This record gives sequence, structure tokens and C-alpha cells, in this order.
Amino acid sequence: MSSDDNTKGGNFIKAIIEEHNRSGRFDNRVHTRFPPEPNGYLHIGHAKSICLNFGLANDYNGKCNLRFDDTNPIKEEEEYVESIKENVRWLGFDWQDRLYFASDYFDQMYDYAVQLIKHGKAYVDDLAAEQIKEYRGTLKEPGIESPHRNRSIEENLELFERMRKGEFADGAKVLRAKIDMQSGNLNMRDPVMYRILHADHHRTGDKWCIYPMYDWAHGLEDSIERITHSICTLEFEDHRPLYDWFLEQLDVFHPQQIEFARLNLNYTVMSKRKLSLLVRDGYVDGWDDPRMPTISGLRRRGYTPEAIRDFSERIGVAKSNSVVDIALLEHCLRDDLNKRAMRVMTVLEPLKVVIENYPEDQEEELEAVNNPEDDTMGKRMMPFSRVIYVEKNDFREEAPRKWFRLAPGKEVRLKHAYYITCKQAIKNEDGEIVELRCTYDPKTKGGWSEDGRKVKGTLHWVSAKHAHQAEVRLYDHLFNTENPDNVQEGQTFTDNINPDSLKILKNCFIEPYLTKAKPGEWYQFLRQGYFCVDSKHTTHKYKVFNRTTTLRDTWARIERSGKKT
Ligand code: ATP
Ligand code: MG
Repeated sequence: MSSDDNTKGGNFIKAIIEEHNRSGRFDNRVHTRFPPEPNGYLHIGHAKSICLNFGLANDYNGKCNLRFDDTNPIKEEEEYVESIKENVRWLGFDWQDRLYFASDYFDQMYDYAVQLIKHGKAYVDDLAAEQIKEYRGTLKEPGIESPHRNRSIEENLELFERMRKGEFADGAKVLRAKIDMQSGNLNMRDPVMYRILHADHHRTGDKWCIYPMYDWAHGLEDSIERITHSICTLEFEDHRPLYDWFLEQLDVFHPQQIEFARLNLNYTVMSKRKLSLLVRDGYVDGWDDPRMPTISGLRRRGYTPEAIRDFSERIGVAKSNSVVDIALLEHCLRDDLNKRAMRVMTVLEPLKVVIENYPEDQEEELEAVNNPEDDTMGKRMMPFSRVIYVEKNDFREEAPRKWFRLAPGKEVRLKHAYYITCKQAIKNEDGEIVELRCTYDPKTKGGWSEDGRKVKGTLHWVSAKHAHQAEVRLYDHLFNTENPDNVQEGQTFTDNINPDSLKILKNCFIEPYLTKAKPGEWYQFLRQGYFCVDSKHTTHKYKVFNRTTTLRDTWARIERSGKKT
């Protein structure tokens, strides 16, 4: 997607990098990092950041680190670390031997903080969090200096040391940078650098009871790893002066922070807090529920790394926030699956059809093309017999004009098989149609008539005797409004959950070939959409398929109509 910020053939970030390469600021080095906090599963927004950071490193023959920004001991868990590594690898990226943890730098960060104190640039404050907030002022009012701001360097050194040793309770003291309580930028009004937290850390255990704040820690992490371009989302733009200030006070390597607009998608939420609430309160079947925008959810749904990378490329990077239509993500997926998915036949809501003139003891194998987009995928044989299943909604007793599917007296083509004509619909006591009686024309084998007679409708089918039962799960958007966060007073985003986002069909019939399908494989069910074998609920005997996406490409329609106007 083009944007004013995007320069020709690249984007504004590439323009900055190329300028640095011209001026020699980083000796032509490009070294980025992806710095997740291990406090949740990654989502499609993170995927954009991963593609961007690893992508830039690839483009400029540089490197990209994977760094866990684990400075907050409270919410972090090992489970998240493993899932994040897995997700980055699955997306197709490799950090080689550069896997880092911010917590590995705690000693260095502490030493740098002592340096700042020695330079008179940091002080220990006794104000409570509430007071600090109050004293900070607002955009209209300047801040008020803390009564402890002018402690001597010796006193600060001693108090900071005692903070580290665990002599004070949580919240009793903090270390603050001494910058400017009058600054027009609230981030510069003596920000907190360290807080006391008597909590065990997933990697450092009980070694520390003081933990660095994000702004203090992040620049140092980048500097220690000699990152050249520290790419982050737009809300950190106002933090950049602070990022630079800290690094300027210490005589250390100084990366360039660059901000870009985060990805927002309609019909979903992306905040980790909200996603974890959906999991915790059981609105979804775990972090990898196929309706979740998490990478593991998209993967289970049937998304491919190629489609996600393509999507990330197409949305580009911009300097202003916007909402991307989820239809574009689905479009990228269809593009990819169209090329790789084998076409198969599956009847989701079966209606029995008896072909009266087909001999009872006869069966035959018919040839079916696996993918018309790709000859190398070959052909397979499909069994055909006297009793087949077709889709319930492919029959109408009272057909409207222009109904080309089955109805009394109508002739249709069975894909790869024969023409059949409907003679009669049989109903049960409740008046429901339970069976169709048809005849077939033996002179239409393969689905083409010897006399050149044409039919408009082509249906998918399976042979009843040969088909296997399976479960199919149909998904819709998890939320029924474009912006789930837009709620009425007294409501929350969960009130916008779409009650029909999951429909489970347990009585579907799949053609025999599909009994070989393995978890994670993709198929196009003819006329129904793309489906993926579910990796959680599928067993050797029982197959569960997730509908990845329908065949209807709303994005292509949007693009076409956009061109017309
Ligand atoms: P939080 O900090 O609230 O826990 P976060 O979404 O910022 O959540 P991080 O783990 O800090 O999560 O994110 C890791 C990286 O991914 C950061 O560099 C961040 O800028 C980037 N990122 C997060 N969300 C998005 C998004 N929606 N679009 C693009 N990049 C994102
Ligand atoms: Mg963050």
C-alpha cells in the first residue's frame, strides 16, 4: 500500500538507513532487533514488526537479533519465550546465534545507573508513585521538583546500594533521572529508572529486587548489542528524546530510534491484555484458537508464513496510524493457497442421492485433477457408485428462475463424473427432504456430454459407500463490529463478540483420499473454501478440518470497485 512516507521502491525507514550508509554514521552496518516482552503470545502486529526488522537486515546484508525484553518479573513466563521463538522460526526468520535477554544486562545497567548518580544525573526519591504522578504536572502545568531531588551524590549512592540489597519495601523508593521538571515533554520530567520489586525473575531468580524501567533499559539493551536502527511503534516517538538523553549521558554506542505506525486490523483486538482475557475467561479455545489474531492461532487456522510475509510487505510501513482491512490478509492467503492447495471434494451438510439407473453392484474410479493451477500436482482417482452425497443446499424443491443446481426435473453435472437429472425428492414424516432419486447419463463420463449438451450447474459430491465421516469447523470474525473497542457506556469489548464465530459440523463426508491428510495440511474443498487439518483435535481415525477462508475474495472486489471510481 503506498503512503506519502514511503519513498520509491522502499519505505521511509529504508530512506533513513540509506542516508546513514551515505554519511557513514554506522560504518554501513545495519543491525536491527525484534524485542518482545515475554508476557503473551505474538500476534499479527508483532509479525509485521518481525518481517520489518528481519527483512531490513536481509535487504542490507545486516543482522537481526531476537531479544527478550524481560525487565518486568511479574508477568513473564517461560512458556511465552518458547512460543515466541517458535513463531519467529515458523515465519521463516533466523536469529542465528543472537538470542539475547535484557535480564542478562542487569549488572551492566546497574553500573551505568551508578555512573549517572556519580555525574549528578540521577537521584533516589522517597515519593510514593501517586505523588510522583501528581508532582509531574500536565501538558499545561509544569512539574514540581521532589523535595529529595537535591540529595548529595554520596547519599544517593548509598541509598541506591541499599535499594539493591533489599533494605526497603516495594514502592518505598525509586531511582529517578535528574532532567527537567519544566520540560514540555512529560517523559523528560525526571522519569523513574528503577523501582523496588521483591519478585522472582524467570531467569535471574531472587538476585534482584530492583528492576529497570523500560525507557532506561531499552536504549542500553540496544547500545550493548550495538544495534544501529532501533525500530519501534509510534507511541514511543515522545520517548525518543529520553532514549537519546540516557545514551548521551553515558559515553556509549548510540543507535538511532525510528518509529512506525503499528498495525491495526478491523474485526479483532490486538492488545495482549485483551487477548489474554479472551483466553483466561474461556471465550476462545486457548491462545492458538483459530479465531485469534495470534501467530499460533493464524497458523492453526491454516495461514501460511508466505501469506503473512506477503501481507506485511503489502501494507508497508507508514508514519501515521490506520486500520487495515482484514480482507486484505485473507486475500494474501487465498493467493498463496490457490497455488498450493489440492482440490478435493467434501460434503458438509449431506443429502443422499440414489442414482436409479446405475447398477447396484457397480462402482468405478474417475479421474480428478488435483490442482488446475499446477499440473505438477497431478491427478487422483475418485470412487463413484450408485449412492452419493451432495450438499443439502444444492437442492431446491421450488427452484427460482436461474437456479442451476438440483431441482425436480433439472439436470446438473457432477464434477469429474456424470450428468444427473433429479426425478423425485423423498421426504420423512416431518416433511424434511431426506433423499433424492436421480438418473445419470452414461454418455457424459468425466462430466462432458458426447452430444455437446450443456448444463450450467456443477456440483461436488462423494460416493456414500467410500466416503469417511469427519468434522468441519467454520469460522467467522471473532467480533461482530469493525472496531470491537468502540463500546457503549457500561459495556466492554467482550460484548462485541460474535456469538456465531464458530460453527461445528460433525456429520460431514470426505472423499477417501482425505483420510491420508495430515495435521497442518491445506486443501481446497471444491466450492467451499480453503481448509486446514486441525493440529489439536485431529486423531488418526478422526479428522477435524478448520475452514481457513472462504473462496469469496472481498478484497479483490474492493480493489476492482476502487479502480472503477
Ligand atoms: P505491551 O508492551 O503492551 O506488552 P506490545 O504489543 O508492545 O505490548 P512487545 O512485546 O513489547 O508487545 O512488542 C514487541 C515488538 O513488537 C515491539 O517492537 C513493538 O513495537 C512491536 N509491536 C507490537 N504490536 C505491534 C503492532 N500492532 N504493529 C506493529 N508492531 C507491533
Ligand atoms: Mg511493548
